[in-house]
Amino acid sequence: MSTLRPLPQGATLVEEYQELRAQGFSRPQIEAGLALGLIVRARRDVYVRQTASEALVRALRIGGRLACASAAVELGLWAPSDDRLHVHVWDGSTRLRDAEDRRKRLVRRDGVVLHWKDLDAADGTRCATSVSSAVRSIARCLGVVDAIRVADSALQRGLAEHSEMQRALEGFAWNEEPAIEAVTALCGSGYETDAKLLLLAAGLAFEQQVHVPRVGIVDFVVCGCVIVEVDGREHHAATFAEDRRRDAEAILQGYLPVRVSAAWIERQPGRFIDLVRHALALHPRG
Ligand SMILES: [Zn+2]
Repeated sequence: MSTLRPLPQGATLVEEYQELRAQGFSRPQIEAGLALGLIVRARRDVYVRQTASEALVRALRIGGRLACASAAVELGLWAPSDDRLHVHVWDGSTRLRDAEDRRKRLVRRDGVVLHWKDLDAADGTRCATSVSSAVRSIARCLGVVDAIRVADSALQRGLAEHSEMQRALEGFAWNEEPAIEAVTALCGSGYETDAKLLLLAAGLAFEQQVHVPRVGIVDFVVCGCVIVEVDGREHHAATFAEDRRRDAEAILQGYLPVRVSAAWIERQPGRFIDLVRHALALHPRG
């Protein structure tokens, strides 16, 4: 018996045997598809068209769909740094299977987080919960900062409306304010969100994604005079010369540019604010 629910399809097609037959696939065609690896049988009566992510096949094999941090990855949101598989297990689903072997019962749970409650079984798709549910689960499971990182990316990438994020974060607070107050559509990556939250917590006035003539768009302008650029993990040598050009043009226009790596902020968040304050102290307008 299938564990699928009558939900819309997501980015990857997930179907029951009868649904494949109803689309005109014959039994030999389905068998051939399985043999060629074009279709994967995740568990009894749950067929996944390729190419599916490994995480999706494992979640379907267990008997659910992707939730929380794993849904964020599937849905193209900022991915929290959590390697575990987060699965929304359907209500009443008692025949859970091993993530690697559909013939075995689910016993080994290391690396797997099951989400049972507080998730709407009628939202999202067969692949994953909705963006809103993912954000709400992340707030509960991984903490509100991770949820703000993901909500920021959802807005910046046009994958959710502000009102949806407001509902998703209802009841969660950050820095003694409703968490939604910290969410903006200007941070496409978690480390930009981290820098933003540190600046907000420090009470420093700043603007984000500011266009500076001859420099281009900069990540932050703090107190109108210090430019803060956060270089992500994917930043590479190809931009070295361009980064120096931007810094030089910024100085020529009276800004003090500060460039930090995402890894550095993550390791020592307190030093980041110290750095910005020192830069402000050096600037005549700071
Ligand atoms: Zn989770």
